[in-house]
Amino acid sequence: MEAKKNIELEDILKALKNHPSEKRKKIITEAFYFAQKAHAGQKRMSGDDYFQHAAATGKILAEIGMGGKTIAAGLLHDVDEDTEVTLDEIQQKFGPEVTFMVDGVTKLGKIKLRGSHEEYFIENLRKMFLAMAADIRVVIIKLADRLHNMQTLEYLPVEKQKRIANETMEIFAPIANRLGIGEIKSQLQDLSFKYLDNENYNLVKDIITKSYKERKKYVDEAIRELKKELEKGGIHVINIHGRAKSLFSSYEKLKKYDMNINRIYDLSAVRVIVPQIADCYEALGIVHRKYRPMVGRIKDYISLPKPNGYQSIHTTIFGPEGRILEVQIRTTQMHSEAEFGIAAHWIYSDKMKKRTWKDFIFKQKKESVLKELKWVKQLREWQNEIGLNDGEFMEGLRIDFFKNHIFAFTPMGDIIDLPEEATPVDFAYAIHSEVGNSIVGAKADGKMVPVDFQIQNGQMIEVLTCKKRHVPNPDWLKFVKTSMAKSSIRRELRKNEEKKTR
Ligand code: MN
Repeated sequence: MEAKKNIELEDILKALKNHPSEKRKKIITEAFYFAQKAHAGQKRMSGDDYFQHAAATGKILAEIGMGGKTIAAGLLHDVDEDTEVTLDEIQQKFGPEVTFMVDGVTKLGKIKLRGSHEEYFIENLRKMFLAMAADIRVVIIKLADRLHNMQTLEYLPVEKQKRIANETMEIFAPIANRLGIGEIKSQLQDLSFKYLDNENYNLVKDIITKSYKERKKYVDEAIRELKKELEKGGIHVINIHGRAKSLFSSYEKLKKYDMNINRIYDLSAVRVIVPQIADCYEALGIVHRKYRPMVGRIKDYISLPKPNGYQSIHTTIFGPEGRILEVQIRTTQMHSEAEFGIAAHWIYSDKMKKRTWKDFIFKQKKESVLKELKWVKQLREWQNEIGLNDGEFMEGLRIDFFKNHIFAFTPMGDIIDLPEEATPVDFAYAIHSEVGNSIVGAKADGKMVPVDFQIQNGQMIEVLTCKKRHVPNPDWLKFVKTSMAKSSIRRELRKNEEKKTR
């Protein structure tokens, strides 16, 4: 077997974006050697040095444009858990911010992401994951860590492969998507797809590779022609390239069209990158004047961004030779954000002031998609604030919107989202009003607790009920935290009063 090339410090430094300062290179260099020493002698299942996993994580973080401290924390992310090195030592050498992130990644790794088939519970799992991360950078390190684990999944036993791939598809890929990190999302999906549904994975891969050469030839030719037209029209084309659809999203599309590849128009697309928003619309005009657009296929995600903030103009045209082709037009900044999401702002932080995130947020609000995706809005607002402050790192990127939430498990592994200081009575009413009415006691992580116990984040709560008990205790109103519990208790008490007086 061919020996794999180890990731060296140079590879990470070369991947850095945004004209790295000496300070930034220094902290990365120190973390690199520190982690290498700490993991010395440890091996991965693949036979690689364990440190190569840390190095790969750091490299991914550099590639998506993260700052020095985050990359350092990425390099150190398994040190606390798996080596003799303590958090105190990290604190002394790298300071509180890096330590906070390393600690966050370790804690996050301990959450059991127990699977469920109900979308509602999976959604709560994602929320809990974010709530416990407490800092966006911790989530991004975890995504990079997961990406490398997925890339080396073949070395694990089949059972584990399935579980990890499933977790990646349900939790990690959607989180990457919501943070707008399209590059990581697609890779996570494609890798999970391979392990979860190998048959269809191979089928789609086969369909796509068969037509690949011929499509590539056509796309290359279309690129040449489009570039000529755009430049003739006075557009400064920063970049024009072909983009291949990921295997998983091709599969999703193919399923809709009876697996008929000829009915999918955006299998390959041409992507045009221009400087300003005005250039996007001008370029669209030029493209449409030259090539007839397909009806109903013009999508203006610049005026109406997708809920995760994605912006671009998409159009499908009858391109050169009359063949159907999708063209995507966007600015450099939009492109960067589509690939790297929230991380992108480091690369373009100096231009943030010109952007009108507030208008953008307002527009989204009008579409009322935001009730459900409040935290995406919150992320956008942070981006805005940070853009106006220091471009070097995202200080204060705390996941505060979950500050007043805790998440507790049912014995079946489902997750209940509760306000802070919620009690087993709140928990019981969140499950069902009858469970609430008949609660007589509770266990938290297997230990008996009083019904007014304050549930801690991540605890498993077992509600003990008594069939004979149907009427809630009025005293519960003194400590319950959810309005659901309060109103259910009052309603039940009222009903009981009426019964008595009758
Ligand atoms: Mn790891």
